[in-house]
Formats: sequence, C-alpha cells, structure tokens
Amino acid sequence: MTLTIPFDNSYARLPDTFYARQAPMPVRAPHLVAFNDDLARILGISPGDAQEMAEAFAGNTLPAGAEPIAQLYSGHQFGTYNPQLGDGRAVLLGETVGTDGVRRDIQLKGSGQTPFSRQGDGRAWLGPVLREYVVSEAMHALGVPTTRALAAVETGETVFREGPMPGAVLTRVAQSHLRVGTFQVFASRRQTDALKRLTAYAIERHYPQADGPMGLLRAVRDAQAQLIAKWMSVGFIHGVMNTDNSSIAGETIDYGPCAFMDTYHPNTIYSSIDRMGRYAYSNQPDIAVWNLAQLATALIQRMDEPEAAVQEATEIVHAMPALIQKEWLTRFRAKIGLSTEEEGDEALITDLLTRMAQNSADFTNTFRALGGDKARDQFTDPGAFDTWARGWQDRLAREDDPQAVMTAANPAFIPRNHRVEQIIQAAVQGDYAPFHRLNTVLARPYEDQPEAADLTRPPTESEVVHATFCGT
Ligand code: AMP
Ligand code: MG
Repeated sequence: MTLTIPFDNSYARLPDTFYARQAPMPVRAPHLVAFNDDLARILGISPGDAQEMAEAFAGNTLPAGAEPIAQLYSGHQFGTYNPQLGDGRAVLLGETVGTDGVRRDIQLKGSGQTPFSRQGDGRAWLGPVLREYVVSEAMHALGVPTTRALAAVETGETVFREGPMPGAVLTRVAQSHLRVGTFQVFASRRQTDALKRLTAYAIERHYPQADGPMGLLRAVRDAQAQLIAKWMSVGFIHGVMNTDNSSIAGETIDYGPCAFMDTYHPNTIYSSIDRMGRYAYSNQPDIAVWNLAQLATALIQRMDEPEAAVQEATEIVHAMPALIQKEWLTRFRAKIGLSTEEEGDEALITDLLTRMAQNSADFTNTFRALGGDKARDQFTDPGAFDTWARGWQDRLAREDDPQAVMTAANPAFIPRNHRVEQIIQAAVQGDYAPFHRLNTVLARPYEDQPEAADLTRPPTESEVVHATFCGT
C-alpha cells in the first residue's frame, strides 16, 4: 500500500508575497499514533502502511504533489496588533478536493521552523496535539464547524516547554487557513493588489455567491454568527479568539487553551494567558463582532472608494450582535425542547441559566437531564430548578415532541477538560487506550452510551483543571 493524496493546490498558485516556500523539517523517529480513516476517505486519500504514514505526517517525506508553504498573516492578539505572525510552526502541504466536492487544506502543525517562527522552535508537544485531535473531532461530531484532525505522529524528539516533553506533529485539515489576519497583513502594509487578489480568492473558494468585498464581509459575518452561537450552545470556550485565529470559512480553528465548561458560569475562563477575561465564555459574541470589525477595516482599504464602503461595512458589522442573538435563541430554544417561538422564551432560557450559575449546575448534564426527571439533582438547591420548571412545563404543553428536540440539541458527551488531561498523561506514558476510547465515545455525542457513563461525570475536586496552556 502506498499513501496517495490527490493534491490539487491553489494557494501555492497565488503570488509569493502570500507565503514562504518551506519544507517541513525532518524528525528523528516518527511514530504514527492516530490516523482518521473516516476523514481520509472524505479527502480521497488512500492510506499507506503505518511507517510510511508516520514519515509523511511527520514531514520526513513529501507525498507526491505536495507543495509545502508557510502562510503569511498578522493579527490582533488580545486586542493589540501584531504586524507579522504567519505559520511559525506549520506548513501547508497542499489541498485536496474531497469526495464531497469540498476543497480542503492539509497542514502539518509542529513541523519545524519557518521564516515566521520569530523566537519559537517550530515544534509542538504531544499534549496540545492530542488535545486538538480529540477536541476538534468532538466538535465535528457535535455539529460545530471546525478544522479536523487527520493524523498525529510522535516525533521521537524532545521538545522543551515547562520541562522536557515528547514532540509531536498534528495533521490538520481545514476548509482553508484564511484568517481575518490574512487580510489584515496586506491591509496594514497597503498592499492593495494582494488584498484584492486575496478577496477574490476567498470569495471563489468559500462564498462564490458573495458580491464583492462587502458581500464577503456579510458572508463571513453570517458564518461566524452561527459558529459562535453553536459554541455557546455546547459550552465551548475557545480561549484565544485573536483575529489570526478567526477563520474566514467560519470554522473553529486553533485549539490552544480551549475547554468545555463543566459547571456553568458565564464568566468562565480557562486560558492561562487570558488574565483579563477578554475571551471568557460570555464575551465570545462581543469578540466575534470585534473581530469582524477588523476584517471590515482591512477590506475597506482595498476599495477604490473607501468612504462609500464605510457606511455599508458599518451596517454589516452593526447587524452582527442581533444575528448572533437570533442564532443563540434558536439553539437554546432547542436545548429546552422548544421548536416553536414565543415571546417569553428568551426570558425562560436566561432564567434557567441564571439559576444554573447560582447553583453550580453542570452545563452539559443539566441540559441533557432536562429530558428526564434528574435535572433538579444538578442544582445545589433543587428547589431553584423546580420553581423554573413550573413555567417551563406550561410552555412545553404547547410543543409537539420536546423530548426529541432536546435529545438532538443536548449532547451527553463533551470532551471534558479533566478527561483530556488524563488521556494526555496516559499517552505521555505510552498508553493510548484512553485516547482512543475517548475519541470513539465522542464520535457519537448525542447517543446514550451507558458503558461510557464515567465520561459524563464532571471532575472531582482534585481532577479540576483550572487553566489550560497555549498549544505551543
Ligand atoms: P497561536 O497562539 O497558536 O495562534 O500562535 C500565534 C503565533 O505564534 C503564530 O504565528 C504561530 O505560528 C506562532 N507560534 C506558536 N508557537 C510556536 C512555536 N513553537 N514556534 C514557532 N512559532 C510559534
Ligand atoms: Mg493561531
């Protein structure tokens, strides 16, 4: 068997101001630890034997048709503009057009230094690689747009972080790696031709129906509004919503210090570097709007008559909060079993959330339990739930099949942070069984899987993970 990837590259055809040609740096002793057969099938990839795939997905050998490049971008990090970022530890091998007709990037992450590495070593350690693998695949199964994981390889090398760690490379698959920051870098450099070229490329690749830069802005807004509402509905906290981590295709990208909430609280933060809480759970809608405003600012600079575009761009951005709210309401209505719309629904939902926060209720388990009679057990004061449930039952009386609606909207399984930490600890010791088990269970998050009940359990006090670290 020979690994075959039907590359059909388009980004490498763009002007060389868009990227640096950069081969991945070979590693000492690559070992394939995970390969996603289902995704490979969609991509039209024929797998090879384990050693061949280890070499390829570590970057030691280049599959035929690969044209490795490191992409240029910039971005606002925690609100401050950084004029140059770019792939500092990743290379895009190329693109495939899948059996579903979708063009996707295949990127190695952790593949060594590039011209954009700045002070970094270009490497990744096993922890963040497995975290991204598990969480991105779980997001996909939950129905949230996301980059995906094709393969994970241990490099046989040591990477130095808090201490010596096993090195690893993730193969990431994305509808593209175009970010808000990809537009910002050319806008801030006043490279109008590049900006125009990029705009045309993004429209053709992602939103062929969009009319010009303002059409693109509108399409990105709509995709991001849906994305953020979906994050909120599963209790996901991205952790680093910098503009370089904001995808034009509207996918979740760059799983660094991300996490799913256990106990519900709107101010929850996990990222060890987010001291001000900029990217707290409940701030995510506002930040998505802020990021869109940065895209608008960048796009306006490519316009021949920027003044005229300012008003249109402003209207597009200003409409985003209401759009997110609308998507949010749709999602949360479903979470409490509503498929029709009534005036009081939003108040009913926020009342439940307030009571959950006051009663340390587990986000996922509370919603999942709404379909049964155990939801009240999630509250330190079950009476707080009972009071709410009376109004809710009155409302449900006007619904046809709330049970089915709730089961489809409320997952039983999420990648709980303490479990992700546990699978990483085990893998560092060479035991991948917990990793594979977690992946398998999370592939069917909306199904009750009684044999995996332990994976629905919130962390005990000693298991709680208080901070997750950047994926470096
Ligand atoms: P991130 O926080 O993952 O969005 O990364 C922000 C920027 O830092 C990007 O330009 C990355 O390529 C770069 N970067 C992160 N880690 C490393 C590393 N270990 N070596 C080189 N560049 C890195
Ligand atoms: Mg990033």
